[in-house]
Amino acid sequence: MSHDAPRMPSPATADPASTSPAGTLHTDTVVVGAGRPPREPGRGVNPAVELTSTFSPGGDVGYARVGNPTWSAFETALGELEGGVALVHASGMGAISAGLSLLAPGGTVLAPDQTYNGTEDLLAALAQGTAQVERVHATDTDGFLAALDRLGEGDLLWLESPTNPLMDVVDLPVVLARARERGVTSVVDNTLSTPLLSRPLQLGADVVVHSVTKYLSGHSDVVLGATVVAATARGAALGTRLQRHRTLHGAIAGPLEVFLALRGLRTLTVRFERACANAADLAGRLASHPAVERVRYPGQGAMIAVEVVGGAEAAEAVCEATAVWLHSTSLGGVESQIERRRRHASEPLVVPVNLLRLSVGIEHVDDLWADLDQALSRGVAAGADASAGPGLSASRP
Ligand SMILES: *Cc1c(COP(=O)(O)O)cnc(C)c1O
Repeated sequence: MSHDAPRMPSPATADPASTSPAGTLHTDTVVVGAGRPPREPGRGVNPAVELTSTFSPGGDVGYARVGNPTWSAFETALGELEGGVALVHASGMGAISAGLSLLAPGGTVLAPDQTYNGTEDLLAALAQGTAQVERVHATDTDGFLAALDRLGEGDLLWLESPTNPLMDVVDLPVVLARARERGVTSVVDNTLSTPLLSRPLQLGADVVVHSVTKYLSGHSDVVLGATVVAATARGAALGTRLQRHRTLHGAIAGPLEVFLALRGLRTLTVRFERACANAADLAGRLASHPAVERVRYPGQGAMIAVEVVGGAEAAEAVCEATAVWLHSTSLGGVESQIERRRRHASEPLVVPVNLLRLSVGIEHVDDLWADLDQALSRGVAAGADASAGPGLSASRP
C-alpha cells in the first residue's frame, strides 16, 4: 500500500466487510438495525437506558456489575459487525487489560515494536513480573513467524494494525494463521481499522479489542472499550475469561455512555466513509507540501501521520496554528484532531519527535486542507526561529 493511492473504495463496497459476517445484509444496514429491541406493540425502537444496580431474581443477571440490558444492545450490534460475541468495557484500556489477562503466568507476549502508549505501559509492567515480552517490527512478517515458532499454548500474540501512531501495517492473515497453528492466543486491537476495514476474527484472531471511545462512538463524548471473541467453543471459553475479568476487576461501563456509543455506532458507515475519503485526499496533498518530510498513510483508513520539517518546535507550532483542526489527544471523532505524540512522556521513543498524528474528521476537505496548509507553513517558520535559540528538543532530551 502506498500513500499516493488515489482514493480507497468506500467502506460500503470494500472487500471483505461489505456484507455482515452472518451473510445477507450489507454492513450499512446492520449498523443501523442491530441490537434494537424486539418489535412489540407500543415498544420503543431504541433500547432503554437501564439505570439500576440490581435486578429482581429470575432474569439472566442479578447484579449490574455483571450485565445490563443497555450493554447487551450495544454488544449485539458490535458482535454482528465484527462477526463474533462482544463485551463492553469501561474503556479501551479496560478491554486491553482483560485481553492481556489471557496470558498464562510465566508466558510470553509477542507484540509489534510500537503499540498504543497505554498498551506499552502495560507490556512494560508485565515484563517486570513473570512474563517475557518479545517485540518484532510491525512489517517484519518473517520475524513474527520465527518468533511464533518458538511459542505455544499460554503465550499471547498482541497485534495492532495499523499501529498507532506510526501507521505500520501487520500482515494479519499470515501472522494470525501461524499463531493459530501454534496454539498461541491472538488479540488484535482493531481501533484504527474498525470492522469496516478489517475483521480479524475472520482471519483467525481469537480476540478483537476496541477503544470504543474512538470511531465506534465517533463524537468524542464517551470513554468506552470492547472485546469480541468468535462464536465458537474456543471463543466462548475465552469470552468467559474476559467477562470474569470485567466483573471481578470491575472496569464496567455506565449505561448512559453505552447508550451514546450505540447512538454513535448507527452512523459509523457514513462517518467513516467521509473521513476516509478526506484522509485519502489530504494524504496526497500533504505528500507534496514543502513543510512535510514524510507522510505515513497506509492507503486506507482516516489516520495520517506526518513528520514535519523543523523538528519538535515546528511540530508544536503547527498544532498551535490550526483553527479548524482541534489540537487535542484522541482520535476517531467527527472533528479533525491534530497532535504531536511525543509530547506525552509515555510515547515510545521510536516515534519521531516531529511526528504529528492527524485524525481526519468529516468536515469539508477543502477547509481542512486550507487550515493545515497555513498551519504547516506558519509552524515551520516558527520552528526555524525557535531553533536559533534554546528550543524544545534542547530542554527536553
Ligand atoms: C485510544 C486507544 C486505546 C485506549 O482506549 P481508551 O478508550 O482511551 O482507554 C487503545 N488502543 C488504541 C489503538 C487507541 O487508539
